[in-house]
Amino acid sequence: MPELPEVETLKNALLPLIKNQVLEEMIFHRADLRFPIPIGLLDQKMTGQRVADVARKGKYLLWEVAEGAMVLHLGMSGRVVQRPSPQPVEKHCHAVFKFSSNVFLHFIDPRRFGCIVWAPRESGHPLLNHLGPDPLTADASPERMKQFAQNRKTSIKAFLMDAHQLAGVGNIYACESLFRSGIHPLRQAGRLSLKRWGKLMTELKTVLQESIKAGGSTLRDFYGADGSPGYYSTRFTVYGREHQPCMNCQESISRLVQTGRSTFYCKHCQK
Ligand SMILES: [Zn+2]
Repeated sequence: MPELPEVETLKNALLPLIKNQVLEEMIFHRADLRFPIPIGLLDQKMTGQRVADVARKGKYLLWEVAEGAMVLHLGMSGRVVQRPSPQPVEKHCHAVFKFSSNVFLHFIDPRRFGCIVWAPRESGHPLLNHLGPDPLTADASPERMKQFAQNRKTSIKAFLMDAHQLAGVGNIYACESLFRSGIHPLRQAGRLSLKRWGKLMTELKTVLQESIKAGGSTLRDFYGADGSPGYYSTRFTVYGREHQPCMNCQESISRLVQTGRSTFYCKHCQK
């Protein structure tokens, strides 16, 4: 599944290709993904417009133009790849974007949990408006997170993965940051001290940055050199390691299920 680091890498790959370029044509091969695609509206607002910037919030990618932004989400299986022509190469190519630089970008999403929507500059879009701060920005400070979590009885793991509190933190990065900061995943979010929030946010930012750095190599896939999905295979310290020895204390890594997702943690190192 594309996580925040993959979306950041994609943003960085797109910037030199489409920033300040005119989006000349959009071809949609279907009218809905997770939500209906507002094709007429997008055509009216985006076609012929210069892309002023490519931005990211959480796992959403924004192609900004004068009146707002086209917002893309990759869902469970989405990719954006550069191809030599508008002709679909992959089976699940749902949209093609042609730029004045003769760049063709294909949006591919076999499971169709992704989305493409329009966010007006003034009112935004409900998907974005209710998002918490992006974890890589200064807005996601320990002070602010502690304030958000005040009186919350939910577990810290569920809190980290709640997009209304913090944008785009997936299961892998929640597990990794809790392990690295020694915080038990079942600890109540509202009872975490400011000092521990400080450690947690530092570790979260660090593990995300490490993955972004490691992701440079997957740009090969973006440019179409091979057919693999190209999601990061960063070696994680706790995620997916049930029954394997903890890298700190050698005790066996445990697993529990929280809000339907597996949490991997060390009973000895995380309190
Ligand atoms: Zn341990």
